Amino acid sequence: MSDGSSFYITTPIFYVNDVPHIGHAYTEVAADVLARWHRQAGDPTWFLTGTDEHGQKILRTATANGVSPKEWADRLVETAWQPLLKTINISNDDFIRTTDERHEVNVQLFLQRLFDAGYIYTGEYEGFYCVGCEEYKQPSDLVDGTGQYEGQQVCAIHSKPVELLQERNYFFRMSDFTQPLLDLYEANPTFIQPESVRNEIVSFVKQGLTDLSISRQTFDWGIKVPWDDTHVVYVWFDALLNYITAAGYGYDDEKFEKLWPATHIVGKDIARFHAVIWPAMLMAAGLDVPKQVFGHGWLLVGGEKMSKSKLTGIAPNQITDTFGSDAFRYYFMSAINFGQDGSFSWEDLSARYQAELANGFGNLASRVIAMVNRYFDGEIPDPGISEGADERVRTVERRVVDDADEAISRLAIHEALSSIWELVDELNGYITAQEPWALAKKPELQDRLKTVLFTAIRGLGTLAVLLSPVVPDAAAKLWTALGGVGDITDVALRTAYHWETDGKVWPLEPLFPRIETIEGGDGPGSQSAPDAPAPAPAPGTPAASAPSTPAAADSNRGPESRDAATKAPAVHAVAPDAS
Ligand SMILES: [Zn+2]
Repeated sequence: MSDGSSFYITTPIFYVNDVPHIGHAYTEVAADVLARWHRQAGDPTWFLTGTDEHGQKILRTATANGVSPKEWADRLVETAWQPLLKTINISNDDFIRTTDERHEVNVQLFLQRLFDAGYIYTGEYEGFYCVGCEEYKQPSDLVDGTGQYEGQQVCAIHSKPVELLQERNYFFRMSDFTQPLLDLYEANPTFIQPESVRNEIVSFVKQGLTDLSISRQTFDWGIKVPWDDTHVVYVWFDALLNYITAAGYGYDDEKFEKLWPATHIVGKDIARFHAVIWPAMLMAAGLDVPKQVFGHGWLLVGGEKMSKSKLTGIAPNQITDTFGSDAFRYYFMSAINFGQDGSFSWEDLSARYQAELANGFGNLASRVIAMVNRYFDGEIPDPGISEGADERVRTVERRVVDDADEAISRLAIHEALSSIWELVDELNGYITAQEPWALAKKPELQDRLKTVLFTAIRGLGTLAVLLSPVVPDAAAKLWTALGGVGDITDVALRTAYHWETDGKVWPLEPLFPRIETIEGGDGPGSQSAPDAPAPAPAPGTPAASAPSTPAAADSNRGPESRDAATKAPAVHAVAPDAS
């Protein structure tokens, strides 16, 4: 099918029930850094993000707000989700909404093909449904209610009563795919990453899969089942298909062949949907499974339990208004090992901003460029004879390009940054040791001064190119100051050290200006009482021992839903009809 040569990367499509918080932004930035890296390396790249707009929860929220669900979705997309992408400088190639015609029509096409192939049957279903989770619950998912719900069984995540539903639904024969999925995981050990997520999913599938109820009859905000318009498609089944409907499935075969399969970046809370249900659906349709499913970790807030006023209350622009989008991007990509849980705190953000971006990188750039201006009137000098220290800088320069690229190929963004920072540190150490300001005082050492500043400028240009996918604004400013030829995003990343300059540097404004008021209270140092509208997540009692909130909390289903993916798709099909 596909030759797999392109790098097609996706985020989950985000549920428009709420407004974005830093967990969503984290997922977006990670996918964006990977996309920008591959794009700049010359790989054919396609980066998709979008919104998930169907389902009972959206319908109820819209109704509660006195608008139609489509009006509600339009409003959230326009005022919250599209602006988020600007706030954190996302370079997506496409934005799909599940209310797009290209999506709705081809979800129906996909479903019809599965039906025709015998993978869908009708069955009776009775079960406890939680609207918050948009999911049927097993008895083990329920707990005794308290307070006003005393005496009732409630959803363990939402602490609200579930609804006993009895429906005649359509079912997908997911149980047929237990063995094919296990074979897939074994044949392709990196299909699910990281290892912790892979292990959890493999042991889940080993227990055997049950069939999946894929339609709903009790409400109508969804895509109609093509052969029975009294049913709408289960919202997860609908949502997962965005990854192929955006890529041309059903209407642009050439595009689809070129793009598919994709690398999916998701929060680990929804890895199961992506690594179990989704590949089973694709296998049933005779399509390639995704290239990879990567489930990243959760953001913890200083080890504290999530609450409305904390993590979920932090809107991305609360950070970017003070620190800028580059610092937001750098911080989350460098401070957290991609794939593991990580803690966010204003103190850590502020400290890293100052130490790594302002002092480590920004000052280095300013000092070197200022010296070229001062000693050589802005003309980048030609080097004299190289010494060991100069050679070492050049060696590090080449090595970190290779190391960072290799790390990115494993989606280890934090490792790539740590490699790049070896060059920052090497250059800072070089300047300190070579003391160009002292060389400048001795005319007989003029050649040495030229070599040192030349070497430092070369290193800075390589840094600008390597950091462009992570801190695009700062990299572009530095590029201009270095007299870089052309647009920095056109410079081949895997040979960054061959970058070209027109030979003259220009004054550089501080890349990461000093931020004065980082302290407790109402400033950015405060974690309390943010202005941003806070969605209403239930803290829940996830299996993880640390109280935590998912990085991509409501990456698709709402903050509560992290547990949704840790449960078996709950179905009890009885007396299935032959279809
Ligand atoms: Zn629930």
